[in-house]
Amino acid sequence: MAGTGKNEEVLKESFMTKRSQNKRAFTHPNWKERWFVLSPENLIYYDGDKQSGRRKERGRVKLSEVVAVECVDTEVFHRDWVFQLCYSSEENEQIVLYIAAATSQERDQWLDHLRRLVAQNPCLSDHYHNGCIKGNQWTCCKGGKEVAACTRVTWTNNNPVGQPTPSPTPDARSEMMPGTPGGRFKPPERQRKVVVALYDYNAIDPGDIPLRKHEEFEVIEDTQEYWWKMKNLQTGVEGFAPSNYVREKETIGLHQYDWYLGDATRQRAEVFLMQQEREGCFVVRNSTTNSGIYTLSLFSKRSHPQVKHYHIKKDSEGNYYLSHNIKCQTIPDLIFRHQHNPAGLPVRLRPPTHGRHAPTIPGPHPDKWEIDPNELNLLEELGSGQFGVVRHGKLRNLDVAVKMMKEGTMSENDFIEEAQVMTKLRHPNLVQLYGVCSMYRPIYIVTEYLKNGSLLNYLRSKDKVLINNNEVLLDMCLQVCEGMAYLERQKFIHRDLAARNCLVGAHGEIKVGDFGLARHVVDDEYTGSGGAKFPIKWAAPEVLNFMRFSSKSDVWAYGVLMWEVFSCGKMPYGKAKNTEVVEMVVQKGCVLDKPRFCPDNVYNVMRRCWDRTPEMRPAFNDIIRIFQDE
Ligand code: ADP
Ligand code: MG
Repeated sequence: MAGTGKNEEVLKESFMTKRSQNKRAFTHPNWKERWFVLSPENLIYYDGDKQSGRRKERGRVKLSEVVAVECVDTEVFHRDWVFQLCYSSEENEQIVLYIAAATSQERDQWLDHLRRLVAQNPCLSDHYHNGCIKGNQWTCCKGGKEVAACTRVTWTNNNPVGQPTPSPTPDARSEMMPGTPGGRFKPPERQRKVVVALYDYNAIDPGDIPLRKHEEFEVIEDTQEYWWKMKNLQTGVEGFAPSNYVREKETIGLHQYDWYLGDATRQRAEVFLMQQEREGCFVVRNSTTNSGIYTLSLFSKRSHPQVKHYHIKKDSEGNYYLSHNIKCQTIPDLIFRHQHNPAGLPVRLRPPTHGRHAPTIPGPHPDKWEIDPNELNLLEELGSGQFGVVRHGKLRNLDVAVKMMKEGTMSENDFIEEAQVMTKLRHPNLVQLYGVCSMYRPIYIVTEYLKNGSLLNYLRSKDKVLINNNEVLLDMCLQVCEGMAYLERQKFIHRDLAARNCLVGAHGEIKVGDFGLARHVVDDEYTGSGGAKFPIKWAAPEVLNFMRFSSKSDVWAYGVLMWEVFSCGKMPYGKAKNTEVVEMVVQKGCVLDKPRFCPDNVYNVMRRCWDRTPEMRPAFNDIIRIFQDE
């Protein structure tokens, strides 16, 4: 088939997000996931997903037309690791393709590869725009669409043959590569990467170093995704620390402030502020509806405790303001002024006493999932479930939960193998598996500890404050959905999603737990759909009929979980016996009724999760989008 690129040599490929090119002015720019494939001549992008790889070609850029390969100011899109490819179209129009990589490493690799391939382009430019067009002007220089690029490129190739010598740049990377015939390109030296700690971290392992907020570190080794070797720039001490606790100094922007919540949703900000309950307490976050716009969320008890949201506006000179009497060049300045003068806001601003909470530590040790039981200090019992007793514990100074597997409930070897896979699953809305103790019996499963226990108990114990608090309840559903969307992308089926298997952290964060365990259960009370412990009330018809599990049967269970959340922990189908439920669901096609205070649009989402045809149910990613549009 012509033009599919199937026969082209593949130099590099990965799944990244691309900004729509917005060729028509009236379409709202959005970001789409695509398979990117780099061949010696083209960068081609396809429809597709992580597992099945590439499908239909969606577009391509001829590398010979590329004029610049550069990063983009992170504030522009509120996305990390965005880079841009500027090129000229066949009509000789200048076009910019913005691509977001998943990690800094991935972005740097793409930059490196692309630059090598375009190094000889006669059309390479020595300037670019490090922003994007918004309205009719560039966010970086405020110039109109046609204005010349404003920022000097960070990387240059030597003067290409037949071109006038460009003005010399102080950039050392424009040197000739010695001894390489015809090779004018010298790969960029690995730039010194300096990062700033966003949170405190207490060293867990002997090879670790502690981090104190605002301290600076040089990254010495970042070959492992989650544990980087760093050197404290003040003390010179070297060791490992979690990469999600630091941020590159160059792109730190608002992230250095405790009151900045980044991409947190409106619901998240409300929950955060309601918990602090301080008059004037505020956070700033990226607007969910308008990229590039910030929202101030403010708590006040004036009439009754509530959180209000204000867009931070920008005037024609680029000054930020909340009310016309105070205008500032930067958001931190604006916040500072409003801490002293309410000027149009109901109260003066007061920063939160405890800022964003630190993310979960990505496991105690790089690639060490077998944990020595001598390093575990077991504390009180947290509860007991199907698989055995769960106890609170300390792994050195890290809080953990230790699940002691009842002997004979699991096919142990399968489980241990699977545990290796599970330690690699990492998402803020999944209970992090730290490792296992499999040398002795019973086997221990060691996970992160979540202070507020199971979501089901949490809903039941707080039903008085939660019922009808739809923002908070929807936020819970959204968090579970984010975790599930990640599992879906990883092609990992949960099989036992329910409120009892989700946990609630100290700050109200919700995490999905017990994923994948169900498959290793040998107890036939649990595994067969006729068994007493089988989660029939959460099971889709195709599971009840044929034991056919899929991400779509997880979606069905998710609908039931939404129902549990909006009814604050009621038992689905009330006292109905399992056999009656099977009859209702399989034969009669009944579904759960709308919980009393549940809004119609939320119930509609549940109904879509309970479509009898699995393929008709929305994917978790679709559900996130539906929620965000609410
Ligand atoms: P099982 O999967 O064997 O049924 P669960 O995972 O449901 O066991 O755990 C039983 C109880 O233990 C939960 O209801 C919860 O209260 C508590 N628990 C389990 N894991 C954790 C954890 N990571 N942090 C805090 N509490 C937990
Ligand atoms: Mg459980």
